[in-house]
Amino acid sequence: MGGTKTVVAVGLGDGRILEEFRYPTTNGDETFRVAIEWLRERGEPTAIGVAAFGPVSVNKSRPDYGQMLKTPKPGWAGFSIVGALKTAFPEVKVEIETDVNAAVLAEANGFSDVAYITIGTGIGGGVMADGKLLHGAVHSEFGHWFPRKAEGDDFKGVCPFHGDCLEGLASGPAMTKRWGKEPKDMPDDHQAWEFETEYLAQACMTLLASVNPARVVIGGGVSQAEGFHASVEEKLRATAKGYFASLEENTPFVVPPTHGQQAGIRGALLLVGS
Ligand code: ZN
Repeated sequence: MGGTKTVVAVGLGDGRILEEFRYPTTNGDETFRVAIEWLRERGEPTAIGVAAFGPVSVNKSRPDYGQMLKTPKPGWAGFSIVGALKTAFPEVKVEIETDVNAAVLAEANGFSDVAYITIGTGIGGGVMADGKLLHGAVHSEFGHWFPRKAEGDDFKGVCPFHGDCLEGLASGPAMTKRWGKEPKDMPDDHQAWEFETEYLAQACMTLLASVNPARVVIGGGVSQAEGFHASVEEKLRATAKGYFASLEENTPFVVPPTHGQQAGIRGALLLVGS
C-alpha cells in the first residue's frame, strides 16, 4: 500500500510474485473493496501479508493493532486493515508491517542486521536487527530525525512539524523547494547532491550508532541519481573515521535496492511466508 497507489498480488512465501494488479489508492473502504474482490476472483489465499504506508499500528500489543492511526489522509484514520481482511477471509492468517520494514525483509539478502531508507515524497526508514523487524511502540519515523546542518546550508526545511529534520531537508519536495527544480532534473554535479549525500551519510552514521546494521539500503526516487550510493558511503567513511566495526567489515555498506519498486510487495509475501 502506497499513498498514491496500491499493489495487490498473488505469490509464494519465498517472495516470488505470480500475478499483480496496481490501482490508485483512494479511501480505506474503497481501496480494500478492490483488493478483496481481486483476491476472491483468484480463490482463497493461504495467508495475507500487508506492507502499509503510515501512520499504522503494527505492534501486536496495542489495542489498535492493524489500524491506520491519526492521519490527514481522507478516509483512513481509524480504518482497520486487518479487520477488513479478517472479515473477508476469516480463516486466513493476516500479518501487517510498515512498507519500509517490509522492504527491509525483501532487501535483507542474507544479512540479519539491515536498515532501509527510502527518499521520495517523504523519508522513511525500516530496521532489521538480529533477524527481527523493529517497530518500537508504534513504528519508527526515521525521517524526522535531526541532522547537523551541512556547512553553507541555510535552508529552513519543509517539514510542517519540525522544519529542518531529515525529511524537511532531504526529501524530494525539500530539494524541489530549495533549488527550484525537481531532483530528476538536476545534473550530477549540482550542489544539491553534495548536501543530499551529506545528510544521508549522517543518517547512516546515526543508524550505525543506534541499531548497528551491517548494511544500509537506500531506495526511492531521489536515490536514483548517478553515483548516489557511492557518494553517501564515501562521506560516511570520512565521518566515521574507522570507529564502527560493522562498517569496516562490510564493503559496500550503502547499496541500492535489488528489487526496486517490488521490494514492498515481496516483503509482504515474505512476512507470511517465513
Ligand atoms: Zn519532521
